[in-house]
Amino acid sequence: MSSRSQPLQALQALNNGQLNARSNNITPIKSIRRNKENIQPTDKQQQQQQQQQPKKKKEKLSALCKTPPSIVRTRNGRDYRRGNFLGEGGFARCFQMKDSSGQIFAAKTVAKASIKNEKTKTKLLSEIKIHKSLKHPNIVNFIDCFEDDVNVYILLEICPNQSLMELLKTRKRVSEPEVRLFMVQIVGAIKYLHSRRVIHRDLKLGNIFFDPEMNLKIGDFGLASVLPSTDSKKYTICGTPNYIAPEVLGGKNTGHSFEVDIWAIGIMLYALLIGKPPFQAKDVNVIYERIKKTEYTFPDDKPISSSAKQLIKDLLSLNPLNRPNINEILNYEWFKGPFPTRINESSLTESPNEFNLISKTQSAINFKNAKNLAGIYTPKNKNPVEILKTDLNSENKKLLPQSLSPNDTRLKYQEVDPKYIGKKIFSTNFQVKQMNLNILQIYKAIKELENYQDDSSSIMIPHFETPTLISKWVDYSNKYGFSYQLNNNHIGVLFNDENTILKTNDKIIELIFNEDSWTTIENSSTQPPTQIHRQLQIIDFFSKYMNSNLSKIGSEIQENREIIFLRRYTRNSLYIMFEMSNGNFQFNFSDHHKLVLFNSEFGIAISHISPTRKITTIPYQLINNLNYHNIPDYQIKFQNIKNAIKELI
Ligand code: ADP
Repeated sequence: MSSRSQPLQALQALNNGQLNARSNNITPIKSIRRNKENIQPTDKQQQQQQQQQPKKKKEKLSALCKTPPSIVRTRNGRDYRRGNFLGEGGFARCFQMKDSSGQIFAAKTVAKASIKNEKTKTKLLSEIKIHKSLKHPNIVNFIDCFEDDVNVYILLEICPNQSLMELLKTRKRVSEPEVRLFMVQIVGAIKYLHSRRVIHRDLKLGNIFFDPEMNLKIGDFGLASVLPSTDSKKYTICGTPNYIAPEVLGGKNTGHSFEVDIWAIGIMLYALLIGKPPFQAKDVNVIYERIKKTEYTFPDDKPISSSAKQLIKDLLSLNPLNRPNINEILNYEWFKGPFPTRINESSLTESPNEFNLISKTQSAINFKNAKNLAGIYTPKNKNPVEILKTDLNSENKKLLPQSLSPNDTRLKYQEVDPKYIGKKIFSTNFQVKQMNLNILQIYKAIKELENYQDDSSSIMIPHFETPTLISKWVDYSNKYGFSYQLNNNHIGVLFNDENTILKTNDKIIELIFNEDSWTTIENSSTQPPTQIHRQLQIIDFFSKYMNSNLSKIGSEIQENREIIFLRRYTRNSLYIMFEMSNGNFQFNFSDHHKLVLFNSEFGIAISHISPTRKITTIPYQLINNLNYHNIPDYQIKFQNIKNAIKELI
């Protein structure tokens, strides 16, 4: 994959001799802000004690980082001008960089001298690979990655207003309305991460930055991991003591999963509202003991609302499965309180007091808008099928998988068990680029026919195979996603997070969407990984529903090994259009006539499926000449198809 290209080769080329030579040549940086997330003193005495303690701090790897030259030239000819020092973590120093157009970025700079061993190399590569694959409004945007002789640079979107840690340090405590907005943005980003099976594992106030518009952006993917992974058992305690979840402290035998991020949300929520993390202590071991017993209090002198307490209590549940999952957090009562439209820069230094005056109605609107901006799906005004109205009443409850019932927590995110992790992973077999080329081909055929209206009645009609098409569907996108059955009997769900699960005769195929391609994970259907149980329950639920309530269109085709899934769909009052991963377009019109445009072995073809399920297929060139006139308003229908496809170009 592309993310393995340059840095990997360059890092491997480095030998020990070079490393030693460079490590003697370090530029010291003055007045570095240290990461104090774990040592926010609670009182003066504690501060004094800390000052008295002998400083036998381990040298941080970031100390090996040389100040980059004033101009950094990349291999592909882009020049960046170095600006101010922005901050330092355990591994990297961060500097401003300006490109030739004047745009400013943050360059996370890692000294090659600090990448001594394979483990550190792998860690950095993993950080780059994961971060590069992410795109979300509340995640620091990854721009580029390059290197010079001494450093590797990760170029990121600049977040000039520091992090939540600095905000808390200045403000001491943050108001509930502000924290509500912060939480929506954080939850949006984590929901996105989890939907891509990424666990951040180092969520803390210091890793959540403010962009110029004061939106939060999660950064630092240095500890992030993608499931399935084989290293989950090797995992030793890492992260920042105050934020570590109890199951991580359980040692190497206890696996951990997405719930560690949920725990960290609880810690951040507490810290922002109360002023310090809940398990704060001088001694790290005391912190760990308190975490293991979830021993914390809500101090009387720092009152917070009871609904905030309830949410914190649930997030900080000792048993990971008792924590709300990422989709449930925003349903808590606490989010119904005053909710601001946005946060201004003045909030960095002073407490805004007008937020408590925001009306209930306005707050509800602001909450909804904030969710939309954070990529959290809220139902659109679609025309959902009958199933929606009835799925929660008692008669239908038994149809719902257990984990979907509101009070059940047993089947939420499961621990990672490497045994059941997805079997085969292919990453590049479904590319957006290829699919777009398919659309272009169909579009060209349409255009050509528009330009040359010659007599095509002499064209022979070859024998076409029936195209793969959607024979049944349920639009349940205001809750989970869009489910469909193909005429090859595969069943799929296009979940609202854009990922798909496809069930074939013997496989469960996960298609994880990543901006320009789908990562495909094949699992056997007899031993699917535990972390997709919930999705499988949803797919079974749909499948049962479709089998008992809907009739199929068209005849079945033989089950073949080809994987075809629904890429996207559009609904309006005239038709629903399906765009399939192989480039087929299917239009189901409201009068029950259906048309499928596809790229056949004989060129672009069109199939008509009548309300009585009769299929006729002809070369696309013949649509004007042949007996398609028995389709009501066929010209309007063809025009609709043309317009819809044109819009995709
Ligand atoms: P590490 O992996 O070493 O922990 P971080 O990702 O935490 O590195 O970055 C170190 C510091 O650099 C941060 O604490 C912050 O001060 C600064 N920083 C990181 N990313 C950005 C950014 N996108 N914009 C501005 N400053 C940043």
